[in-house]
Amino acid sequence: MPVDWVVVGLDNGGTTNNGTILDSTGRFLLDQLAEVPSDVREGPDKAIESLVVAVEQVLGLTGVPITAVRAVGLDTPGPASGDGVISSKGATNFGHVGWRGFDIRGALAERLGLPVIYNNDGNSAALYAHQVRFGAESGQRSSVAAIVGTGLGGGIIQAGQVIKGAAGMAGELGHVPIPLDGLLDGGQPMPACNCGQWGDAESVASLTGIQNNLLPYWLTKYEGHELSGMPIGKAAKLVRKYGEDGDEMALAIFRQQAIAIGRLFTMAANFLDPDAYFLGGGIVEAAAHFRDWFFAEVRANTVLREEQARVAEICLVPELDMAGARGSAYAARNWLIGQEQQVRPGAF
Ligand SMILES: [Zn+2]
Repeated sequence: MPVDWVVVGLDNGGTTNNGTILDSTGRFLLDQLAEVPSDVREGPDKAIESLVVAVEQVLGLTGVPITAVRAVGLDTPGPASGDGVISSKGATNFGHVGWRGFDIRGALAERLGLPVIYNNDGNSAALYAHQVRFGAESGQRSSVAAIVGTGLGGGIIQAGQVIKGAAGMAGELGHVPIPLDGLLDGGQPMPACNCGQWGDAESVASLTGIQNNLLPYWLTKYEGHELSGMPIGKAAKLVRKYGEDGDEMALAIFRQQAIAIGRLFTMAANFLDPDAYFLGGGIVEAAAHFRDWFFAEVRANTVLREEQARVAEICLVPELDMAGARGSAYAARNWLIGQEQQVRPGAF
């Protein structure tokens, strides 16, 4: 099939840029991600060139000429503004001083001479999950996505569009405070989050939450546990494996995470009443019996009204490693189609 036009999707991470390409019919032209080093630690100049290399690699792999590219979708980890200005305080992945307040979207757009559509990585993954689930009906559906990783990211999609908010901070589900009554064990300290709050969703449902809050507490309840002799950061990463093996302490930790996510979804139900609640993160790749148990715990703690339960679903984010780049590509394609409809009145 001759290529009409395409968009390129880029997922910028701490070490790697993942790229993909989506054609005008909504078909991905690459089954796998194209990967190149992101060079973000070397500062903006080098990193922008590495994003250009990622675009060139995708085009090279598919034989699509650059002239067919109409727009590029880009995501990065936050915090950044809704249109891609990295926080003036810097960010975990953007430690180089040149990144502070840097407009990564604008710089890439200028370098490529193409429109660049920006989302943070949580929003991009949320959009991907939404598009995969709803396909042609995406524009009529809404969803929330919670993605458990080092932190708790995610996003909100309404009528097929990412909700960005006034300052680009909508969908920061991790920093929503959640009720802790019945979640915390008797005498368990209030969990702290890196954002400065106590008892928000990320303080419990994230790897950082395990490391800083849950594991240190639960190790006092399971003296002599194999994980107690290890550096806490290393031990935190092993908790999932112990959970898969049915370890009692690990299950207590993951039960608390599931309750936190369920309560977060319950709040989403009352705020947004979405068609779908997506759960993503390392848990999706865990052993099936453990993943299913965790998922069932999340469902059990998500309180939907009878009418909501009838029409909404709680499901897993598929192919998470591709979600950033593919979500970015969808964002660029949606933007482009929206632009075309604007210049052709009546096209709705
Ligand atoms: Zn927080």
